[in-house]
Amino acid sequence: MKGEILCIGTELLLGDIVNTNAQFLSRELASLGVNIYNQTVVGDNADRLMDALNIAFSRSNIVFTSGGLGPTKDDLTKETIAKFFDRKLVYDEIAYKNIEKIMKKKNMEVSESNKKQAYIPEGAIPLYNDNGTAPGVIVSSEDKTIVMLPGPPKELIPMFKSKVVPYIKNKVKNVLVSKEIKIYGIGESLAADKICNLLSGDNPTVAPYAKEDGVLLRITASGKDEGHCKNLISPVESEIKNIFKEYVYGEDDDTLEKVVVERLIDLKKTIATAESCTGGLVAATLVNYPGVSEVFMQGVVSYSNEAKMQRLGVNKETLDKFGAVSKEVAMEMAEGIAKTAGTNVGVSSTGIAGPGGGSEDKPVGLVYIGFYIDGDISYKELNLSGNRENIRHKAVLEILNELRLKLRKC
Ligand code: ATP
Repeated sequence: MKGEILCIGTELLLGDIVNTNAQFLSRELASLGVNIYNQTVVGDNADRLMDALNIAFSRSNIVFTSGGLGPTKDDLTKETIAKFFDRKLVYDEIAYKNIEKIMKKKNMEVSESNKKQAYIPEGAIPLYNDNGTAPGVIVSSEDKTIVMLPGPPKELIPMFKSKVVPYIKNKVKNVLVSKEIKIYGIGESLAADKICNLLSGDNPTVAPYAKEDGVLLRITASGKDEGHCKNLISPVESEIKNIFKEYVYGEDDDTLEKVVVERLIDLKKTIATAESCTGGLVAATLVNYPGVSEVFMQGVVSYSNEAKMQRLGVNKETLDKFGAVSKEVAMEMAEGIAKTAGTNVGVSSTGIAGPGGGSEDKPVGLVYIGFYIDGDISYKELNLSGNRENIRHKAVLEILNELRLKLRKC
């Protein structure tokens, strides 16, 4: 089945709203085994919508539209699609009752323009809307199908899940299943080189994607059911994990902070953070994980030398001799926060995030990260590139990844 997505709305073209419907539909349809080859956005204009439909059906046999089903004059999707299929619009009693129900809930009268929403193309399958007045519609001819969905995501998503998914499952013979493996510490091209034999595979396919938090390797299999796909994925997954070993930090929805916090919880080890150049980002990232309160005790943003001495007990002599951006200070910060907070683990950052403030000896991007784990103190020197935001963000990822590797050995 060759599919495509056609989103309708001038707001999308003007950049006033982000096309999250296209993202949602693409993801969901891929997992249902519908190959999406194109996405198009068109404004609220009947002629241009008609052109877009002609183009879409010259290359696809199923088109998913979003938007333009509302009660106002510029909502032209249903009328234009009825014209495309040469169908009349006919009154649907259940759709009307649904509109009445929704308007009653809002304490509003059904307007004449709302009534227009109860008309659907003759012979179409209505998709009644539990969260709004506009029904969705599926219209089919011999070789063409259109699935029309309302624009608001709070209407489109439940309608898709409850009504479109069963319809598609009925039509599609094969399902697609994907598994994502996440790695950190190795670039996308090197990762691709290491698995070049797998990248040319047909079923499953393997594709690498560079992400902010490392490289994602997506394995996708097509088969008659989920079990069949999983059997195809499993040996490839094992091979990839074997190649990348400790570079693999997780799969699917895993994040570095989730993996680190879950490991701390397993080990029953508490943590505290002492941050200079990352300014609290390490703490904020750890706090992304909902169960973190079990292990995260406190975080200090010790930006000045005074704060490093007062709050963390960093020695004045260390600061004078090596400077605030030094491995010695990073280690004293990590030890200091663990001791003052009474935690098993302390992590720290101190560096030059730029754009100014660098020197030949200590250039912008030089960051030291420190670790204290039950008396074991260590550091890592980072030479990061990019702007201030990139440097701070990469330092956080490095701290989390380094901590992940250290906690593996605990
Ligand atoms: P309504 O009945 O609310 O008029 P509709 O089906 O006519 O719905 P639109 O008028 O095109 O849909 O869009 C209504 C709202 O839905 C937009 O203002 C926007 O907030 C959201 N929306 C529309 N299209 C998209 C999209 N592609 N991605 C995300 N949100 C969207």
